[in-house]
Amino acid sequence: MNAPVEHAIAKQHLIDPEICIRCNTCEEICPVDAITHDNLNYVVKFDVCNGCLACVPPCPTGAIDSWRNVERATPYSLEEQFQWDVLPDTTELDNVEAPFAVERADDELPAEVQEITSIATAGQGGPALAPWSASHPYLNLYPPTRPITATVTGNYRLTADDASSDIHHIVLDFGATPFPVLEGQSIGIIPPGTDEKGKPQLLRMYSVASPRDGERPHYNNLSLTVKRVTEDHEGRPTRGVASNYVCDLQKGDKVQVTGPYGSTYLMPNHPGSSIMMICTGTGSAPMRAMTERRRRRLERNEGGELVLFFGARSPDELPYFGPLQKLPKDFIDINFAFSRVPGEPKRYVQDVIRERADKVLQMLQDENCYIYICGLKGMETGVLEAFRDICRANGADWDQLRPELLANARFHVETY
Ligand code: NAP
Repeated sequence: MNAPVEHAIAKQHLIDPEICIRCNTCEEICPVDAITHDNLNYVVKFDVCNGCLACVPPCPTGAIDSWRNVERATPYSLEEQFQWDVLPDTTELDNVEAPFAVERADDELPAEVQEITSIATAGQGGPALAPWSASHPYLNLYPPTRPITATVTGNYRLTADDASSDIHHIVLDFGATPFPVLEGQSIGIIPPGTDEKGKPQLLRMYSVASPRDGERPHYNNLSLTVKRVTEDHEGRPTRGVASNYVCDLQKGDKVQVTGPYGSTYLMPNHPGSSIMMICTGTGSAPMRAMTERRRRRLERNEGGELVLFFGARSPDELPYFGPLQKLPKDFIDINFAFSRVPGEPKRYVQDVIRERADKVLQMLQDENCYIYICGLKGMETGVLEAFRDICRANGADWDQLRPELLANARFHVETY
């Protein structure tokens, strides 16, 4: 049999179903809408993907970075990809240099995607752009096909009994099995049972809320911050499968855990490094982890500032930073924005950021300050606008500063 001629072969972009955690990041970021999903798998449309790689750096597991050479006329169809539990084996076709099925003109890419892709893939041996002094993260030690079993050792409600949201602090213990995590990383939880189509439940990701040495220092445990989902984005009543499962866990229950995930949203470790944290609601989880890490090392006098902007509906709905207000002002500078306090105007984090313009500008311009945003997607635009306004009002240029922040891994965003 004759081997197919080279130009008949094309590079097909695939997603490894064994390690994909179905976080939707790739689908959201793809500038040409080449990625889609069903209840089981995330897949790539062969006739749309142009190999721009915008989706590769943000993927927390690397599942997106999967490729096979195929005969251009007979690529793996979407229907085939939706059925896969594992990627197909490589074949002799993979030994040749093959082009993408769709030609890409670089200047067709949105400027922002081009910028992020080129920065995120430059240097550092790969896509990870963590602060230079971040510790080495372990990734994917336990994939969905081989989860680790953790034991619930605590489940505490964080919000007041009459608060509109039911947020829980969950403590998971890993016993004698190593599960190293850093502040800013996430883990996956696989709810038991099957979905409405009879398929096993997919994992859900949660940020770790405890520092690297454990929720309780030197215990092999960690904590999560989970809000019980009782309505969908349109406010219609619904029951979130995973959040209700997690919020109802009892001490002693066993939980299937995957991960850890996340190689860039990591805190700096060098003495003198400062951190600006901006969060809403349960987006406070990584901020609590970083703050607690610094608090446990207070007596080392390593310097550096912590400034927190935290948006919540009301003081009763604050996960964590209510109690942390007792921390010394010279350790952490806490700025709350409450949006639903009766008789008071709605305030969002971006409003408080504007009120602290001098401090914010100083931190944006401090090369030892690292900025972290976590929480509701909608906040991101508001915060970026506030940064732009603060720069403009003070003779600085946000459009010049932002790429510098990205290139130096000083700007980290995790919004949903
Ligand atoms: P929430 O209670 O609904 O909202 C928190 C605060 O943000 C409220 O004051 C809210 O004001 C305000 N807000 C709403 N829209 C805003 C906007 N455009 N700009 C600024 N502030 C705005 O928040 P939540 O339900 O806890 O949601 C937190 C988010 O964090 C979720 O998307 C979650 O997926 C994500 N997250 C969770 C974790 C975790 O580990 N659990 C980790 C990372 C991220 P209103 O009164 O107007 O609603």
